Amino acid sequence: MKQSSNHEDAWAPCPPGLLSEKASSVNRQRRARRVIIAGVVATVGLAAISRMVVPDASGIPGDRNDGGILCSELRKRLPQYRTRELDESTTEKIDAHLRTCPFCRSYVVRPEASPLA
Ligand SMILES: [Zn+2]
Repeated sequence: MKQSSNHEDAWAPCPPGLLSEKASSVNRQRRARRVIIAGVVATVGLAAISRMVVPDASGIPGDRNDGGILCSELRKRLPQYRTRELDESTTEKIDAHLRTCPFCRSYVVRPEASPLA
């Protein structure tokens, strides 16, 4: 008999409105989480895209440090690089940078596209 009364206690009916209150609170939390996730995804995505595509104030896309030289530095030295006026170590750094940096490579291939050429 004791067991059956315990069973009834455990399965007592919910007070009116409790379930819908719980449900709407869960929905609110889900909505808030979705908004936060969407915000984070949008922020990270925009940051990545802007770094790759949108030039910064200097007109140079994200300054990469490939081969021990920055994009901005490389482009400053590009005229001397073309005329072979640079020392060997700088030339090697530029060669290494150009192997891995598509932005600078495109400027070397199409000099008219360079903001500094
Ligand atoms: Zn570069």
